[in-house]
Amino acid sequence: MDFTLNADQLAAQKMVRDYVAKEVMPTIGEWDRKQQMNPEILPRMAELGILGISIPVRYGGQGFDYITLGLVCEELERGDTTLRVVMSVHHGLNSMSILQWGTEEQKQRFLTPQARGEKYAAFCLTEPGVGSDVVNMASTARRVGDKYILNGEKMWISLATKAHHFLVVAKTNPDAGHRGMTAFIVTSDMPGVTTGDIHGKLGVRAGSTGWVAFQDVEVPVENRIGEEGEGFKVAMGSLDNGRFTVATGAVGLIRACLEESIKYALERKTGGKPIAEHQLIKQKIGYMQQWYEAGRLLCLQAGWMKNQGIRNTQATSLAKWYATDHSVQAALEAVQIHGAYGFSDEYPVERYLRNSKGAVIYEGTSEIHQLMQADYAFGFRADHPLRCELPAYNADEWQREA
Ligand SMILES: Cc1cc2nc3c(=O)[nH]c(=O)nc-3n(C[C@H](O)[C@H](O)[C@H](O)COP(=O)(O)OP(=O)(O)OC[C@H]3O[C@@H](n4cnc5c(N)ncnc54)[C@H](O)[C@@H]3O)c2cc1C
Repeated sequence: MDFTLNADQLAAQKMVRDYVAKEVMPTIGEWDRKQQMNPEILPRMAELGILGISIPVRYGGQGFDYITLGLVCEELERGDTTLRVVMSVHHGLNSMSILQWGTEEQKQRFLTPQARGEKYAAFCLTEPGVGSDVVNMASTARRVGDKYILNGEKMWISLATKAHHFLVVAKTNPDAGHRGMTAFIVTSDMPGVTTGDIHGKLGVRAGSTGWVAFQDVEVPVENRIGEEGEGFKVAMGSLDNGRFTVATGAVGLIRACLEESIKYALERKTGGKPIAEHQLIKQKIGYMQQWYEAGRLLCLQAGWMKNQGIRNTQATSLAKWYATDHSVQAALEAVQIHGAYGFSDEYPVERYLRNSKGAVIYEGTSEIHQLMQADYAFGFRADHPLRCELPAYNADEWQREA
């Protein structure tokens, strides 16, 4: 494994770092306070090519590799978690699933406008009654001729009121457990689709989180992703990609905590010297540095495996669990280093703390990842070394025009 960043990776990293520094960081605190999503964010991310960064050029994307996707997520979350959440659902959970499982016709119809940023995409798995326990979901899709009749409600859906395309998983055979689930692309203009926002959230306040309800929605068979009964497999593949973006984003949040804490510790004085010179403050900074570097390496490992086309469920889960848990720790320490100012929105660290908490809940709670890792350790589960349905990265092919 060679983790030296190549010219493409460095260019994408710099482009997003500059965008975040100039256009996001100066105003994000205000949007967070207003609890609204800045309407310029999605069109600007589209314009910069970020929404299709690691999708082949022939499908409207930029043709960069999966490590670049991770670097972009790190930079976005250095600014604010809400921008990385966009990448998790639009790019990781939805677009990459169509790349992985969609037919050529579906790639033209759904993936291409998503990668170009002409359409926004979301992912609908969680329901009011189930999150971790997806096998017991209540949404149903009943086949009638060349359509499915979809009924149900999805909850805690990022971009619920902004997205044009939803990747929805529902039960087509309620008695068949995880083999009775099927995935579909549902568009927001289909009769029977309604959406709304959730208010009063602890974090990601400058983002969009809501619910999506389906009442007798007629979904054409050609919108089915994968075969009937493969919805669980599709959803788990989606999570391998979404979790990678969450993990790399969390690394960016740790970096944000570290950078803001270093700045403050060098300025703030007690006992006639900067608090940076106190050993207990250095200890916190030392830990944050350790969490950043270790999290980054776990993410690079997972990104490298994706580039090679190696099944990476375990590596991605470990990166997600480690980086998100430690982003909460880093945010707690950052607030502590800022003293009373850390308790106020005059500094960004209180927002980091609130935002960090979401990522240990979505895309598999920390408890679920801990259980997964224990099962890998016991040998109760194992990733097939070669079987990875996500296409391996191939620069020549991915950067070729249609
Ligand atoms: C900001 C935000 C954005 C989100 N965006 C999306 C989205 O775009 N699309 C989407 O589909 N979902 C989304 N979610 C939902 C998220 O994926 C779920 O909240 C998550 O899967 C956990 O489900 P739950 O909240 O129902 O908790 P539960 O599954 O009810 O879990 C409750 C508690 O029990 C623990 N627990 C559950 N099962 C076990 C077990 N077997 N062993 C030990 N402990 C267990 C959990 O770890 C947790 O601590 C989002 C959530 C948030 C907060």
